[in-house]
Amino acid sequence: MILDDALIIATNPLIQSLSAFLNDLPIHPPAQRSDAKEFRDPDGVRGRIGYFHRMSKGQVYDDRRLQTAIWEKYNNDQKALEDAVQGILKKYQSQSGTYIDARNLARLQKPTADREELEHKVSKLLNQETISLPKGNANPERRAVSREEYIRCPQVIATVLGRAKGKCELCRESAPFDRADGTPYLEVHHVIPLSEIGPDSVENAVALCPNCHRRCHHSKDKDETANQLKEMMMNSV
Ligand SMILES: [Zn+2]
Repeated sequence: MILDDALIIATNPLIQSLSAFLNDLPIHPPAQRSDAKEFRDPDGVRGRIGYFHRMSKGQVYDDRRLQTAIWEKYNNDQKALEDAVQGILKKYQSQSGTYIDARNLARLQKPTADREELEHKVSKLLNQETISLPKGNANPERRAVSREEYIRCPQVIATVLGRAKGKCELCRESAPFDRADGTPYLEVHHVIPLSEIGPDSVENAVALCPNCHRRCHHSKDKDETANQLKEMMMNSV
């Protein structure tokens, strides 16, 4: 790394643009970045570069372990330095300015027994590149959950499955596998959900492959899919 004393000044346009870039990285909360004029300001950047410059001349800083580690890692390894820069660019370009502060991130990463909450958290975290691999939990906590379940009629399920004859009533593909008892695996879905006072009846139920069933509950086009099923059931009556 070749540095010239005369260039390590806050008015150097290169240092100014580096300062602007560092200020822009969504590592710190936006408030912290915009409130403090000094945050990653050209003079601070000049100061950091100054350390590296003096290290290049053999100066040792006992109190600057991070700077020393960076210097030792990248000083003689141009490739590693370029990779690190590319890594930073890639990471933050892909986030396009979205920022989740550390407290929010910790909240999102907290395990939960609530399915809906879990799904919400996963959806938020999917947009976030994690800094490190999650440790997971070798021994997840268990919690007794009480929730209301509908009492469903087995004969409705059996009749709908019989009507489907092993083919998904939405995509018309064969069941992806057989159950342990040798019958085709399809899932019975209520067209008008029981939670919306739909009846547990053959007319309100369809046999779906797991893909189509999940699609009815989770897809972007679930409303269209539901309408398609409603129409299909109306026409079959
Ligand atoms: Zn299907």
